[in-house]
Amino acid sequence: MHELSLAQALIDEVLRLSAEHGAKKVLRVDVMIGAFSGVVQDSFRFCFETLASACESTVDTALMIETPPVSYLCIGCGHAFKADKDMRVVICPSCHGGELFPQGGDELLLVRIEME
Ligand SMILES: [Zn+2]
Repeated sequence: MHELSLAQALIDEVLRLSAEHGAKKVLRVDVMIGAFSGVVQDSFRFCFETLASACESTVDTALMIETPPVSYLCIGCGHAFKADKDMRVVICPSCHGGELFPQGGDELLLVRIEME
């Protein structure tokens, strides 16, 4: 399962960082998951929480998931722009061309971690 290995990698990173800082507890973890990453957020959250509950320092960790807006590059005119909220841009706002190339959106990033 894709989400399980990603959640495991995130937990490993979080535990490594908290050990590095001598933290006892991880309060909150913010991640950014791109719209094209193929990650099912509910499933990812479930895996994360299951793994986190097995560890003393992450048992109460709150997971915050953000989805950054996707950017497109128009093949026709080279105009780069951000997609609207529901990510359903199908034409270029500059030349009204329909050949668009998505940029980014496949990331899974650890943005912030709060610990004590
Ligand atoms: Zn264009």
